[in-house]
Amino acid sequence: MTYETVRATDPAVADALEGERERQNDTLAMIASENHVSEAVMEAQSSELTNNYAEGYPDERYYGGCEYADDVEQLAIDRAKELWGADHVNVQPHSGSQANMGVYLAALDPGDKILSLDLTHGGHLSHGHPANFAGQVYEVEQYEVDEESGYIDYEGLHEHAEEYDPDIIVSGYSAYPREVDFERIQATADAVDAYHLADIAHITGLVAAGVHESPVGVADFVTGSTHKTIRAGRGGVIMCGDEHADDVDSAVFPGSQGGPAMHNVAGKAVGFGEALDPAFERYAEQTVTNAKALGERLQDHGLDLVSGGTDNHLVLVDLRPSHPDTTGKEVEESLEEAGIVLNANTVPGETRSAFNPSGIRAGTPALTTRGFGEEACCEVADLIYEIVDAPHDEAVVAEVSQRVDELTDEYTLYD
Ligand SMILES: *Cc1c(COP(=O)(O)O)cnc(C)c1O
Repeated sequence: MTYETVRATDPAVADALEGERERQNDTLAMIASENHVSEAVMEAQSSELTNNYAEGYPDERYYGGCEYADDVEQLAIDRAKELWGADHVNVQPHSGSQANMGVYLAALDPGDKILSLDLTHGGHLSHGHPANFAGQVYEVEQYEVDEESGYIDYEGLHEHAEEYDPDIIVSGYSAYPREVDFERIQATADAVDAYHLADIAHITGLVAAGVHESPVGVADFVTGSTHKTIRAGRGGVIMCGDEHADDVDSAVFPGSQGGPAMHNVAGKAVGFGEALDPAFERYAEQTVTNAKALGERLQDHGLDLVSGGTDNHLVLVDLRPSHPDTTGKEVEESLEEAGIVLNANTVPGETRSAFNPSGIRAGTPALTTRGFGEEACCEVADLIYEIVDAPHDEAVVAEVSQRVDELTDEYTLYD
């Protein structure tokens, strides 16, 4: 994609857009929640549908002129149903957080009780953090992972639920490298007569491809983002049984949003269509294989992985055992200088702060999109290790940067 038309009228914005394309081409995106969509998804997202007001749902709109918006939204819904096997799908949430907001609004009253995973243990702001609306409107208590094993403490969660008597239990996480046992959490929710929201934001693509156990048909509500392990452009999605369909739809519109971002719904339709191709299953499998290879090579270098490994697309490195004086932030900054972009992350039992935590989180979805296999991921692990071991050594940063240039030249991305 060129930005010639933007450049003709607005060179400042064109500079930023071209800069961003070059940045993505020339660096390795290892932020576990990021990916690269196809040119087809980007083209759909930049369509004339951005002009359209489609308040309501297909064939039940408040304004005229929605025949093509109806087509696009229905395609997105039908494809999502096929991908995840859900009875009911709402493709209008502007983001994963707004999908969660829609479910809370559909399922809870103000003051009701949420039980969700602690943010520093891998949870998400939208699960009831005090800085998020959910933490202000609802009562929130949090469960944890077992600090020894790094796995969800399912037994502790069950006991906590019996004591706290929540109205909803939230599963699904931002920095959890292991398979989630949704059925076990559902059993806890059933035992205390609570709803269960499975937020699969990070693993929507893995679930769609059958590479991770699916909560669809198990949990009462499932939310996801459409831009992480599935490459359908920025947005959110809600899935539920038919019994909750009307409540969910009215919680999204008019409950918490106005007109849907129909150009993004078009991006979702295209991206979901791509994910229905058998090649997507291979992509999802490779993403997980790559994360395992990355993790094992980091372990070979003596680094400590939370939970001892990974079942999904990300690894979480606890720097404290091997490099007690090095923080996640230092490593993040030096890696970025060398062209490897990932994020510092808290680890279970965090002893520093959320701003300067003790871990780094690294994901393989975007590298796998670029065509990386296990061997290339092992090489990236070697590069990450070199920086972890000497984050302030300019010569090391320069050498890693050189290798990143070679890798990004070999595995090309956008024209
Ligand atoms: C990324 C994420 C979300 C959604 O985030 P948005 O940026 O609002 O799309 C929701 N829940 C979890 C667990 C996430 O990791």
